[in-house]
Amino acid sequence: MNITKENNEVVIRIPLIQRGESTYGEGQWSVPNLVGVIEQGKNGGDDEYSLWFAQYLDYKDSLQTTSPAFHFYGDREEFVALCEELLLEVEMHTRCVECQELIYGTHTLTDKGVVCLECNSSPPSPPLS
Ligand SMILES: [Zn+2]
Repeated sequence: MNITKENNEVVIRIPLIQRGESTYGEGQWSVPNLVGVIEQGKNGGDDEYSLWFAQYLDYKDSLQTTSPAFHFYGDREEFVALCEELLLEVEMHTRCVECQELIYGTHTLTDKGVVCLECNSSPPSPPLS
């Protein structure tokens, strides 16, 4: 990353592509440096859009998001168009229907909707008497 001051602006340059050598065997890889992330709004609120740094696990052929880089102020259509222009993948993170926490990994699809691992592993509430 290259951060400079140009007149009255901060200019942050991030290469669109990261490159590396294969962990096992020979060969090189190149993948996007950023991923577009859409996070579902809480309790029906507005969704949030941001660009996250990406880490490529070549031995799994998996592009992982690592940390948010920039919040995007705009609507979904503008955000998706930006990601398409930058050739970035777009990930969608929904909220657990039980606890409303964002789900970034393992989850279960129930008849109510998507449930996070923690809520799914909680013992059921005792029946009311
Ligand atoms: Zn939950």
